[in-house]
Amino acid sequence: MDDKIKVLLEEISVFKAESKEQLEQFRIRFLGKKGLLTDLFGRMKEIEPALRKDYGKWVNELKVKAEEKLGEFRSSFESNDEPGYEGDLTLPGENIPLGALHPISIVRNRITEIFSRIGFYVSEGPEIEDDWHNFSALNFPEEHPARDMQDTFFINLSPPYSLRTHTSSVQVRVMENSKPPIRTISPGRVYRNEAISARAHCFFHQVEGLYIDENVSFADLKQTLLYFAKEMFSPETKIRLRPSFFPFTEPSAEMDISCNFCGGKGCNICKHTGWVEILGCGMVDPAVLENCKIDGERYSGFAFGMGIERIAMLKYDIKDLRIFSENDVRFLKQFTGI
Ligand SMILES: [Zn+2]
Repeated sequence: MDDKIKVLLEEISVFKAESKEQLEQFRIRFLGKKGLLTDLFGRMKEIEPALRKDYGKWVNELKVKAEEKLGEFRSSFESNDEPGYEGDLTLPGENIPLGALHPISIVRNRITEIFSRIGFYVSEGPEIEDDWHNFSALNFPEEHPARDMQDTFFINLSPPYSLRTHTSSVQVRVMENSKPPIRTISPGRVYRNEAISARAHCFFHQVEGLYIDENVSFADLKQTLLYFAKEMFSPETKIRLRPSFFPFTEPSAEMDISCNFCGGKGCNICKHTGWVEILGCGMVDPAVLENCKIDGERYSGFAFGMGIERIAMLKYDIKDLRIFSENDVRFLKQFTGI
């Protein structure tokens, strides 16, 4: 065996690292990029061909021994990462405070769960939307005053894009890409160009629902939403529908629920009427179905949409919408464990 290799093998076998630094020096000396082994392997071509095979074997052996030594000390240093720690290892650890889901997430999950039980699946879509999916397909022609009710933030491109004003845009995408029966809800963030106050914000969250099949009637709409109100608030909850207008439904209605705080007797929250408004709904306008290539003669359907913040405010008696996006831990930690 080559004398030089013998000497190195001996050096490795007696090596003992007393610190991580010493071990690192050892690694660099033998196994580093410019270390001895790289050098020895590089000399292979200078060796006489007849001896080359043996030489290769010895250098390999040297490499294996160096790696073994490195591994042996490395593990002994790692398992001893905190030298000098003499505390009582049986003491309980420090408390890690438990986080909470954001109330918007809690309510969104609850709404999703209630509707999934009666066959609605979740669909999602982009927050930056083109004019067709956010407005035109939903019967908001350009220059129509209904667009003013949903002013938003526009991206100066041609054709223009905007931040979606509702998740109805997702419903358009679902209708364009699937065939009835369709039973879907679309939760997500939406945007409006509104002055920020206790009751309005430039962004909020919605869940919109859509059901399209043969022979879907207003009675189905009413029954579905009654089921939802009872599950979301309490089994005693009543609903009432008031006529309203939306470009994409006909007829359209606003739905109120009996006030959950006073049981309908009248209180501050329901402004002494016994009722609070929670969502808008209606039968999908046949023109919208046709826009989305669905036969409006054969199919009918209903749609509804609600603000998640609104539901959360009613459920947890929250007075100011802005608190949802202020990241105040004193507010958020009240939802721990829900
Ligand atoms: Zn009340």
